[in-house]
Amino acid sequence: MDLSIIIPVYNESKAIAHNFSVIHETLFKDKISCQYFIVDDGSTDDTWQELNKLKIKYHNVSAIRFARNFGKEVAICAGLDHIRSERYLIMDSDLQHPPSCVKEMLLLMNKTKANIIDGVKQKRSKETLAYKLLAGSFYKVLKAATGLNMNHSSDFKLFDNKVADAIRRFSERNLFFRGLVDWIGFKTIPYQFNVQDRLEGTTRFSTMKLIKLALNAIVAHTSKPLYLTIVGGVFFLIFAIILGIQTLVNFFVGNAISGFSTVILLLLIIGSMIMLSLGIIGVYISRIYDEVKQRPRYIIADIIGNTEEDTVTKIINT
Ligand code: UDP
Ligand code: MG
Repeated sequence: MDLSIIIPVYNESKAIAHNFSVIHETLFKDKISCQYFIVDDGSTDDTWQELNKLKIKYHNVSAIRFARNFGKEVAICAGLDHIRSERYLIMDSDLQHPPSCVKEMLLLMNKTKANIIDGVKQKRSKETLAYKLLAGSFYKVLKAATGLNMNHSSDFKLFDNKVADAIRRFSERNLFFRGLVDWIGFKTIPYQFNVQDRLEGTTRFSTMKLIKLALNAIVAHTSKPLYLTIVGGVFFLIFAIILGIQTLVNFFVGNAISGFSTVILLLLIIGSMIMLSLGIIGVYISRIYDEVKQRPRYIIADIIGNTEEDTVTKIINT
């Protein structure tokens, strides 16, 4: 069975040795042979040293280290850029994606001949109220804007090389992996799993990172917010016409509206509408700017394992 497991890690030095041994032992017990590709997403702790130790202990581990934190989405893509196999599995390093499910996912893929086995969160892990509220409203906005129902979706996905090839064709800088896999299509079978509690530390996604990801998810998948500015404009035009007629009638009749309240209110409403619309347009322009610059998606600082050859071939080919 030709399977590659891509694991993005960020500041996991305390847990990675234990977590990896659990993943490895579980898959070994289930007689699943695979290679591991770990992407250190620019950790600022000793994660890279821990990965070096893992390489000595386990023969089937390769890893790369980013020069800085480029984000989980990019880390997953970097994994796909550097390895080739029949099947790929994306998995978190914190055991929240249970390794005991991998065997069932592989069997399901064999049975259904699906291209993607899509891990769907049946039971979410313990989350703070603020996180739940933020995530809940983000998923609602995302569904309304893009039609993507990501409420229970996860990055825990098993897919074949056709899907991997399709993902490799995307060169976007600001991407949302789950949305991208949904967008490309292919035969997808959901696989329900229970998200385990994080054993060590808390989520590596700060509120700022989550907001950025949420914005990316929307901007990368729809331009509806831009049309929303037109809808807002039309709405205020109608409002303006009605108010304009009423003001003119009042003027000619001889009883003009008194006081500044109306003027101030109108100014405030129109001002915020304009700022909001400019903001929306600005976000899209900044994304266009990001893409036009054609900067590399990530910079690699170090490599361990069998990936050097691939990297060299890639550089020659591009
Ligand atoms: N991660 C990453 N880069 C980041 C943040 C997280 O590679 O900028 C990794 C992290 O080490 C873990 C996985 O992505 O292996 C999921 O992160 P986390 O558990 O913090 O996210 P959550 O479970 O809250 O979605
Ligand atoms: Mg986690």
